[in-house]
Amino acid sequence: MALAARLDAFRRRCDELTSLHAGYPYNLAYDYTPLLPFFQYTINNLGDPYVNGNYGIHSREFERECLAWFARLYGLEDHWGYVTSCGTEGNLYGIFLGRERYPDAALYFSRDTHYSVHKAARLLQIAPVAIDSQSNGEIDYADLEAQVARRGSRPAIVNVNLGTTLKGAVDRIDRVATILDGVGVPFHLHCDGALGGLLLPYIQGSPAIDFTNYPIGSIAVSGHKFIGSPIPCGIVLARRAHVKQIETAIEYIGSTDTTIMGSRQGLAALFLWYAITDRGDRFAEEVATCVGNAEYLRDGLAELGLDPLLNAWSNTVVFRKPSADLCRTWQLATQGELAHVVVMQNIGRTKIDSLLEDLSGARDRQPRAAVS
Ligand SMILES: *Cc1c(COP(=O)(O)O)cnc(C)c1O
Repeated sequence: MALAARLDAFRRRCDELTSLHAGYPYNLAYDYTPLLPFFQYTINNLGDPYVNGNYGIHSREFERECLAWFARLYGLEDHWGYVTSCGTEGNLYGIFLGRERYPDAALYFSRDTHYSVHKAARLLQIAPVAIDSQSNGEIDYADLEAQVARRGSRPAIVNVNLGTTLKGAVDRIDRVATILDGVGVPFHLHCDGALGGLLLPYIQGSPAIDFTNYPIGSIAVSGHKFIGSPIPCGIVLARRAHVKQIETAIEYIGSTDTTIMGSRQGLAALFLWYAITDRGDRFAEEVATCVGNAEYLRDGLAELGLDPLLNAWSNTVVFRKPSADLCRTWQLATQGELAHVVVMQNIGRTKIDSLLEDLSGARDRQPRAAVS
């Protein structure tokens, strides 16, 4: 039957592509089969996660537990947030919150920042100010200070990268906060923790993501990256007091609609809740394994003379871009002369050895088999 054959073929392709994938920061090793029965329901958390609407088939209780878990992780007691459709939506929300607090603010971000932040500036019509990056991808603090100071008393929305996309570089929350306090402008500090939001808390000696001791306004984290999910998703978390400011404005037009999207994935909240409940205790172990394997890959690449870079508190290994064939086989993300591998939970030593063998050219004359 054509329908079944088509799906079978697609499934085989998914299996094969999953076994060889190495370029994107997605944990592809998870088991959500106990949640399969929930695909029979239209679970929709439309609107605010803390206000149950009239539509009864929702997973808000699980969503709120996820948010409380993240809030504890980041030392934020009085929190508000929601499960987003991806990290991009979380960045858009955090920057939106900043703009609602300071309508005439400029938006500062390093040149290594993810394109979702540029998009937020465009959508929200905020003046973007690109700050120089250091060669490791971290923001140039002196340039940030100069650019904020240049604009006098103009408020600042600052995007802080907790792991940049290409190089995995971490901007320092403490240093950015000190600079903003020093210049003395009102500010909203948003953290883009798409991947690193779940790495840093588990790495000893890494900069703390701590709302109690730092003036962080909001943070966005992707759900399908470190945690892993068949449905792209994420979370955004903010200080409840800031969100209250916007809520009032919205009540004025007669709406309690606080999220960017209307209908929202109830299944995604369930996936995140399940992963946190089932594996949360092992996240530290998973991070340690990923970072250890990233070091192993870096050392292997150095032996091949491919000039690898592995930033502190990161599992992203950057190196000289290999052949187009190889980039396609391993689905490597590339930029200019650089490629990277993000060593996630599904990339163990066997797979790394196989990738290194490909990169060394040793397998050029042999057909390859899928690696498990
Ligand atoms: C992946 C990523 C994003 C966007 O996340 P999506 O979930 O793909 O929308 C934002 N910022 C950084 C640094 C990322 O790596």
